[in-house]
Amino acid sequence: MSDAHPETTHPEGWSYDTTAVQSSIPRGLGQTIGFPIHAAAAFQFDTLEEAQSEFQLNSGLSYARLQNPTVRALEDRITALEGGSATVAVASGQAATLTTILSVCRAGDHVVSASSLFGGTTGMLNNILPLMGITATLVENTADAVQAAMQENTRLVWAEMISNPAGDVADIRVFADIAHEWGALLAIDNTCGGVGFLCRPLEHGADIVTQSLTKWAGGHGSVLGGAVTVGAGHNLTRNPVYTDGGDSSILNVRGDAALAWRQRWFGAHQLGMTLAPHSAFLIAQGLETLALRLSRESETALGLARWLDSHPKVGKVSYPGLAGHPHHHLAQRYLRRGAGAVMTFEVPDPSAFLARVRVLRIAPNLGDVRTLVVHPWTTTHGRVPETARYAAGVTPTTIRMSVGVEALEDLKADIEQAL
Ligand SMILES: *Cc1c(COP(=O)(O)O)cnc(C)c1O
Repeated sequence: MSDAHPETTHPEGWSYDTTAVQSSIPRGLGQTIGFPIHAAAAFQFDTLEEAQSEFQLNSGLSYARLQNPTVRALEDRITALEGGSATVAVASGQAATLTTILSVCRAGDHVVSASSLFGGTTGMLNNILPLMGITATLVENTADAVQAAMQENTRLVWAEMISNPAGDVADIRVFADIAHEWGALLAIDNTCGGVGFLCRPLEHGADIVTQSLTKWAGGHGSVLGGAVTVGAGHNLTRNPVYTDGGDSSILNVRGDAALAWRQRWFGAHQLGMTLAPHSAFLIAQGLETLALRLSRESETALGLARWLDSHPKVGKVSYPGLAGHPHHHLAQRYLRRGAGAVMTFEVPDPSAFLARVRVLRIAPNLGDVRTLVVHPWTTTHGRVPETARYAAGVTPTTIRMSVGVEALEDLKADIEQAL
């Protein structure tokens, strides 16, 4: 794990940490130091011709469901932090998931996904997308399983960078090769990868990065948001959504920008899952300290995971930073600044444990500055079929913990007394 942070796509050549606080804020007399909030539903034109041109091109400002300067500044910052070519910010992580899938799939198409997934994603793949004629096969988080599930009509392979809650780490390079061989794209949910801080999946062959900004980006449990970022160089020539229509096909008309265009078209223009400017402001502010928070949280999480792992009252501990985790080697390959802030552990009596915590707080969120715990079996994964719950690493005695920025010793003492 390197602290050098050499990779960057910021035009100034800035590192991750500098990009997070400096990008998208213009310099100059009287400019605000942070992002200004443009509380606007619509923007003015001087002439009929200007309005007409904007409605044809959709490249500037007209109506805030399509584009807002505050949201745009956040999108540009996320693009730089993920090393992508374009981002559309939307109202939640769920909205980002839906936008991603609809950007490459239509009725009759198929998605292959690793089954170690956030419950909402499982629900969308199993219950919502079939209503639109899009089917999904959920498989074990391994190359062999993904390969075996691929079909002629598979347009998308999906996995979480670090799965919530089991801590599986996607073998991005290998999944990308499989997807591309079948003419499909690889989308990685990088929520637990922290907006490119722990890992930038686009640099390892992923075509799309999707994430919930509610978690580490916001960082304070105060705002919902999501984002879809596309990389350069993805190949859509085998996807009929893009190639149907000959000369007037989306690919022909939009070229390299086709995928990003369709994501904005669906996520914002047509489905209206637009991010509000006030939310964009809060998320942009959160992003400025993400590097500090997540490096500290990862360090504390590793300390806690090691301690819990040897605790006589604690059962299985699942954290990819532990040498015993089945995906530890993938964590070492892909996660360069720590293994993240999320772990699960088994306690004898989850109800009694949660009733006694005094520092830890019971809440269904991740990436908060405060350490949050839940009992996934009865909450986040409560509606997921039982077999899928076990596949996602959730058992009746599992506690999920998202480690915050509190002192390691205080967290240990609280867990000790609650056990
Ligand atoms: C929370 C979460 C989502 C959904 O995000 P929301 O902002 O709650 O809609 C998607 N993926 C992962 C991995 C998550 O943790």
